[in-house]
Amino acid sequence: MNVFVLNCGSSSLKFQIVETDLEMIEHDSDKLLAKGLIERVGSQALITYQVEGKPAIKMATPIKDHRAALLHVTNWLASDETKIPGILSFDDIHAIGHRCVHGAERFKKSVRIDKEVISGIEDCIDLAPLHNPANLKGIYAAREVFGPQVPMVAIFDTAFHSTMPEENYLYAIPYQMYRRFKIRKYGFHGTSHRYVAYRYRKVNNLTRDSTNVITLHLGNGSSACAIKKGCSIDTSMGMTPLEGLMMGTRCGDIDPTVIDYLIHKEAISLDEVFSTLNKRSGVLGISGLTNDMRDLLAEYAEHGDRRANLAINMFCDRIKKYIGAYMAGMNGTDAIIFTAGIGENSAEIRRRVCEDMSYLGIELDPDLNKQAYGGKEMKISSEDSKVAIWVIPTNEELVLARDTVRVILNAPRVW
Ligand code: ADP
Repeated sequence: MNVFVLNCGSSSLKFQIVETDLEMIEHDSDKLLAKGLIERVGSQALITYQVEGKPAIKMATPIKDHRAALLHVTNWLASDETKIPGILSFDDIHAIGHRCVHGAERFKKSVRIDKEVISGIEDCIDLAPLHNPANLKGIYAAREVFGPQVPMVAIFDTAFHSTMPEENYLYAIPYQMYRRFKIRKYGFHGTSHRYVAYRYRKVNNLTRDSTNVITLHLGNGSSACAIKKGCSIDTSMGMTPLEGLMMGTRCGDIDPTVIDYLIHKEAISLDEVFSTLNKRSGVLGISGLTNDMRDLLAEYAEHGDRRANLAINMFCDRIKKYIGAYMAGMNGTDAIIFTAGIGENSAEIRRRVCEDMSYLGIELDPDLNKQAYGGKEMKISSEDSKVAIWVIPTNEELVLARDTVRVILNAPRVW
């Protein structure tokens, strides 16, 4: 089955075409056929398309909205030069999988998209005002471009965390506020946490029921997750992605009083405060230089900038605290798994995170740690480490494609 996987952000559209079916899932033999990215939808867009095994092509052109972006993609797919093996026409796209950010309490697993599901995603807009409308635009555009006969599936970032116990998802505010407005922790990056935990079990031949892990998704947005017997029991992001770890531009955990204080001291609006906390805080806010961890590490290595080092240390210390909290919550862990841009590539960040954690049984092998980058999946803990430490590249698009197939074929989700 050829699955078109679509991930629409507020000003971007990412897609992949993946050939997969139940047998290919079982044998990890799914095939990526093509992929692409359109950034800056709404203005002069930057476009990258690539047929697997061929060089990427790049271009820039004005694209006004997500519908126009998807039409651009389908024109490229249909053009004579593109030639994706197995895709002769749109009839060869058998299903579409949509990444949806917020499913609130309504969507606890991936679902086939129908009218009711669409209105359910609309109902969650309040909780994700930037993301869910973009996801819906992708759904409407795909329905129009590919036609109503092609089945579509929604895969939610929040769904994996729906197994959290109420002790962990409730905020300690009056319970009626949860009952009336569903104010609670939902968590994000669910497909990524779920995937790397599954890979860890698969590579090590372990069963769900016998394995507890802590997964660290460290990218521009970062989150940690405690996974007990295959189920998320706690995660660092909250009702929105602002809570938890320090991130590229988001502040993470903060005393809410700061918000009111800033409004008065800086004489700025609530919107401006939230814009600061979301877009000008975190690693960027502390370093005053960049939100990009690779650049920041290079800056520190070259010039020894004090605030660059401070930002890196704060980023790593927050992660340590969550590891400690989750080990306390699960009575230890079998493994810690690093993933996403920083987690997969930065030996220095992994070194700082795991430094001085031997009391908890966490010991890196420095040589193995240095070898893990650029998409390698490998163990990086020392022989004596009680807790296994792994780098496992995430593959959220693969989860989207696989869930799409499973939902359409009514096959059980095994991980
Ligand atoms: P997003 O959340 O946007 O998907 P990614 O998972 O792609 O983010 O991660 C982006 C982050 O990963 C950036 O901060 C980037 O600098 C960082 N990164 C990528 N490669 C490296 C590297 N070799 N060393 C340190 N950081 C890296």
